[in-house]
Amino acid sequence: MSSPQRTAIVTGSARGIGKAIALRLARDGYDVCINDIPANESGAQEVAKEIQEMGRKSCVAIADVSVYSEVESMIQKSVKELGHLNTMFDSTARLGDIAVANAGIAQVKALLDLTEADFERMFRINVFGVQNCYQAAAKQIISQNNASADHPCKLLAAASIVAFKPFALLSHYSASKWAVRGLTQAYAMEMAEHHITVNAYAPGIVGTAMWDAIDEELGKKAGRGKGETIAKYSGELIALGRVSVPEDVAKLVGFLASGDSDYITGQTQVVDGGIIMT
Ligand code: NAD
Repeated sequence: MSSPQRTAIVTGSARGIGKAIALRLARDGYDVCINDIPANESGAQEVAKEIQEMGRKSCVAIADVSVYSEVESMIQKSVKELGHLNTMFDSTARLGDIAVANAGIAQVKALLDLTEADFERMFRINVFGVQNCYQAAAKQIISQNNASADHPCKLLAAASIVAFKPFALLSHYSASKWAVRGLTQAYAMEMAEHHITVNAYAPGIVGTAMWDAIDEELGKKAGRGKGETIAKYSGELIALGRVSVPEDVAKLVGFLASGDSDYITGQTQVVDGGIIMT
């Protein structure tokens, strides 16, 4: 008997952690919808091509996660392009099995310099973006009526270690990731009756374009050179002594997306090399 079709949508997956998650899920047998903003469309197309070369289906849905109507269109595009492929096995096929609300932004700014616009943009993308993805994906999954206790569907979102541990100059970013933890817990309670689990992952310091920008800004404020903040943190904050790579996070998401995590819900799982202990 063939295994059921499994589809995942990963937002912000043209690069960085999202890309690593998309490739990991494809390796684990998922067809994957790649999402990003227009500025990163070529990166999104490259990730989709890489997944197709692995023998899986993939499509690109350009959408700004902070706009609900665009998130809805993204999900519809994924359903149209990746759904109902294994018609013979349709009784078990699930569309939008997994939605990973990964897209996010960060900004280094002191409380005394923060503007309302900074705060609003952070929450628009990091919190409304997750809310939009959780809500639109949950509606799609519930309308399919094929999640079950034996095979729950899964909503996942990117939180951060800053939702557990304070970092100066990242206040509004931290607040947005605390909000993701809160949404994840509350929706896990609400979605249980629909056989949908809701979890988040909280990376520490991951070597991506986002972290390069944070490193540069923190460095400027502290009079340190490029890469020196990351080196300082690696020595002082990371018990395992190295900055993580996107694949470290993708391994956790691979687990949270798999059947091995079916009894886990409402958790924000830390994957930080031990920063939380230091
Ligand atoms: P990144 O900047 O390298 O990649 C993020 C991707 O999201 C980009 O391709 C970007 O274009 C996309 N994106 C941004 N706004 C979007 C929007 N409105 N709609 C759709 N796509 C959008 O970042 P990353 O380091 O890969 O981070 C991924 C997630 O992990 C983020 O939510 C981030 O907050 C979180 N995180 C990262 C780190 C880290 O150290 N890099 C640590 C903890 C948490």
